[in-house]
Amino acid sequence: MSLHGSYDPNNLFAKILRGEIPCVKVMEDNVALAFMDIFPQSRGHTLVVPKNVTARNFLELPREKIGPYLERVQRVALAVEEALKPDGLVITQFNGAPAGQTVFHLHFHIIPRYEGEKLAGHGHSNKADTAALEALAAQIAAAL
Ligand code: 5GP
Repeated sequence: MSLHGSYDPNNLFAKILRGEIPCVKVMEDNVALAFMDIFPQSRGHTLVVPKNVTARNFLELPREKIGPYLERVQRVALAVEEALKPDGLVITQFNGAPAGQTVFHLHFHIIPRYEGEKLAGHGHSNKADTAALEALAAQIAAAL
C-alpha cells in the first residue's frame, strides 16, 4: 500500500468502527474510538482511531479534525499513564506500508514502556488473551 490511494471502507478498523468485528473498547465518543491492540507490543498497548473520517493516514486527516482527535489521543494516553503507571509511553503512528503501516485507517498507538522490559516488535507480538485485555481496558477506562 502506497502512502496515497483510495480509502478502503472494508479495512479492519472501519469494520471495528461499524461493530462488524469486536474490539476491547476503552472509550468512545463522537470523535474517536480507543481499544486494546490484540497483538500488544507491551502491556496496555492501546489504539485510538478517529471516527467519521476516510483518512488512511495522518497526512489525509482534514485539518479541522486534528485538534479534537489529538485531544482524545492525549486523554487516553493520560489514562493509560494513570492506570498502568508505566515508566514511559511511546505515542506513534505509521504512514504507508514502507513506514510500517498495516491497517489503512488512521490510528495512533499508545505503547507503555516499563523499565527493564523489552518491547515486542511492531507486527511481531503474540495475540493477547481477551480477558487480560478486558481487565486492562477496564483499568484505563476507569482513569479517563
Ligand atoms: P499499524 O501496523 O497499521 O500501525 O497498526 C495496526 C495495529 O493493529 C497493529 O499494532 C496490530 O497489532 C493491530 N491489530 C491487527 N489486527 C487487529 C485486530 O483484529 N484487533 C485489534 N484490536 N488490533 C489489531
